[in-house]
Amino acid sequence: MIEIRDLSKSYGEIHALKSATIDIQKGEIVGLLGPNGAGKTTLMKLITGVLEPDSGSVLINGLDIVKDRAKVQAKIGYLPENAPLYPELSVQDYLLMMAELRLIEPDKKIPAVIDAIHAVNLSEVSVRPIGQLSKGMRQRVGLAQAILHKPEILILDEPTVGLDPTQIIEIRQLIKNLAKQSTILFSTHILSEVEALCDRVIMIMNGKIKADSRLSKLANTDNAILILDEDRPNTVNLLKKLEGVVGVNREVDNHEFPHFFIQGQPAADITPRIFQLAVENNWPVRELRKDIHTLESVFNELAISE
Ligand code: ATP
Repeated sequence: MIEIRDLSKSYGEIHALKSATIDIQKGEIVGLLGPNGAGKTTLMKLITGVLEPDSGSVLINGLDIVKDRAKVQAKIGYLPENAPLYPELSVQDYLLMMAELRLIEPDKKIPAVIDAIHAVNLSEVSVRPIGQLSKGMRQRVGLAQAILHKPEILILDEPTVGLDPTQIIEIRQLIKNLAKQSTILFSTHILSEVEALCDRVIMIMNGKIKADSRLSKLANTDNAILILDEDRPNTVNLLKKLEGVVGVNREVDNHEFPHFFIQGQPAADITPRIFQLAVENNWPVRELRKDIHTLESVFNELAISE
């Protein structure tokens, strides 16, 4: 549905996006994760046709955003980082104005505004001036304008930034609801946001795509951790001889109990074999588990390797 190929953009000397290639399928919710200045907003502006790339392409359902901007933009809803809201206008007047700008047919404008107001739960404040609303409510107005034309794709730039925890939960719930109808790409620098909302994450740092993976895949390693109550002779050597084991490291620092980090071959599933070995040798097993990466540890590793 979204095909991004070798997309690059510079602002003078600053290479904000370097040769990004991404495919997003219909119905996905994809989190774009990166620190400040990583290039998230630039990528979103290029996808939505707000900016033109220096090189590369963005195709939406086979149409090029640069060559067919109007047609493509009709399929996309965009919530920019700082949505330009008009504080003196009421919610419904602002949305009617946006419906006009989006060229929604005259007889469909009012139903579109009503639908959007319902979808983001703004009915109770629809006649209030936007300037009198809380930040969370204003963010919902931003979401309402993004979905007015019932787009197939929603691009949301840091939709929860600056909100309090209750508002964050509300906006996340709204995004989940919107995902039933639309493909969603949202940016954030909050790791837990990605875990709460989506199952695919694209990590961007310094303008480069550093990872693009299902969360479950990113978290899973082929390694295991064995903790014993006390050391037993020959443990490391016996573990090393196990089928599928690449290496074993006995960690001595800061651990009350002996820890063994056991590296497995890809997809070898070594944990059951380690369990069997421990039973055969009567080892006092305190804990045996797969070594699971957290999103945070992956992110930190990538940041260190930058
Ligand atoms: P944030 O989370 O802080 O919004 P971001 O990941 O969205 O950051 P971008 O806004 O895309 O990052 O910025 C990427 C780089 O490009 C940064 O170094 C930024 O300073 C620079 N940049 C962005 N817009 C411009 C501009 N209009 N002119 C010059 N440099 C810019």
